[in-house]
Amino acid sequence: LFSCMLLASCSFGDNSGVGNIPSGNGGKNCTHVGVFLPDRTTSDRWEHNDHPLLEETIKKAIPGVSIDYHNANGDSDAQLTQTTTGMVNGDCILVVAAHDSIAAEPIVAQAKAHNIPVIAYDRLIQSKDLDYYVSFNNTKVGSLQAKYIVDHYQTYKTADKPVRMALISGSQTDTNALLFSIGAHSVLDPLLATNELKIVNEVFTPDWSNTTAQTEMEAVLADNQNDIQIAYVANDGMAGSVITALENAKLTGKVLVTGQDATLGGLRNILQGKQSMTVYKPIAKEAQSVGDLVKALYDGNDVKKLTGENTTSTYNGGLIPSILDDPISVDIQNIKQTVIKDGYVSMSDLCKGL
Ligand code: BGC
Repeated sequence: LFSCMLLASCSFGDNSGVGNIPSGNGGKNCTHVGVFLPDRTTSDRWEHNDHPLLEETIKKAIPGVSIDYHNANGDSDAQLTQTTTGMVNGDCILVVAAHDSIAAEPIVAQAKAHNIPVIAYDRLIQSKDLDYYVSFNNTKVGSLQAKYIVDHYQTYKTADKPVRMALISGSQTDTNALLFSIGAHSVLDPLLATNELKIVNEVFTPDWSNTTAQTEMEAVLADNQNDIQIAYVANDGMAGSVITALENAKLTGKVLVTGQDATLGGLRNILQGKQSMTVYKPIAKEAQSVGDLVKALYDGNDVKKLTGENTTSTYNGGLIPSILDDPISVDIQNIKQTVIKDGYVSMSDLCKGL
């Protein structure tokens, strides 16, 4: 019995139950960086853009670094297991795009207990103890989507009645989805107040599920006898599903549809007149900010030079040093000068088969 107890206390000494986590020394001389992304299905960006770009910038930042990469496939528990295992195996800096902004809090707590810095990537983690946050100005993403609507709704106006909108937002457990919605409302609300625009339905979409977005749009169309002129949709993945619902209702191209991420699918829908706009977020810059932070941590340098005085607040009042880049509104007019010019997509990929 005694030896059993001894064994138990050895293998369960750490609260994770999977072994001991070595100290990360605040990231100094760290050559084992963990990179954790949320899923593969809500947006092409994670595997298509973020994954390779993060690998590239981190490898440039730290000579001989090994990268411990995992995708949580839409499962918060899996993400917790992946990060814990990573730390047990020696990850000494973590880059985490949380599947769920609140459920990821224990990742930060565990890392902090072992002096392992955590960089929240793209999505904020709701923890006072989070070390850094790298993302875009996310309320601006929402306000750019809404500004497009405000600038173009009159084209969709019939007779002297309000232009009718459905709002299909992202997952409520992703802080970004809330910020996109706040940004959108800041621009739409004045026109809602004067009854120029009317919201007939507003939903958040659990897990950013593209399939659910289609069901949501089908329900809105059915409930309103197809009398919808605008679909504010939070990203290109869901916009693709909303477009399928519109096609089924024979409304292709007749409804203003917004998006985000400038995915190949989204941009091709714009070229075909099925989607009106997207928001391009230069992910190369976002990944580069992570590379710069990781390098400063590795060198033991003052990170303040990178974040300046910029901070982002968490729900519990934490002020997290942040690097936030600017999103860019893209429609058929400026595809060439933005995503093509930056090499985010190639002309041949974009136009293949169109
Ligand atoms: C990201 C978006 C993405 C969405 C769904 C958000 O947190 O900022 O770019 O489309 O998640 O994956």
